[in-house]
Amino acid sequence: MEQHKGARQYSHGEVYCNCCGELITNRERTNQHRDYLHVEKAWGYFSSKDLAGHSFNICENCYDRWLESFRIPVEEFPVDEIPNYSEDEIAQLNEAYAAEVCKG
Ligand SMILES: [Zn+2]
Repeated sequence: MEQHKGARQYSHGEVYCNCCGELITNRERTNQHRDYLHVEKAWGYFSSKDLAGHSFNICENCYDRWLESFRIPVEEFPVDEIPNYSEDEIAQLNEAYAAEVCKG
């Protein structure tokens, strides 16, 4: 199996899903820009992971499967503001969106 990078190790703008190992997004390629969950957790003294930090990325497919296993559904709320994207990222998103719309 191919060795995948950890969540903090982005090479050439690539972000991998820690769960399925698939490439989630490549910031240098405009046509592969997908949203994902990024988690950073610093475990404290009252855990069995004393002062260890964990960091990982989860793609939307794995996220959906993970949520299906929850006994209590997640709370959903409207989001008014999009995250802070750089000018480059906004340009990439607009290009990707335009490409999707043109397919239609
Ligand atoms: Zn995944």
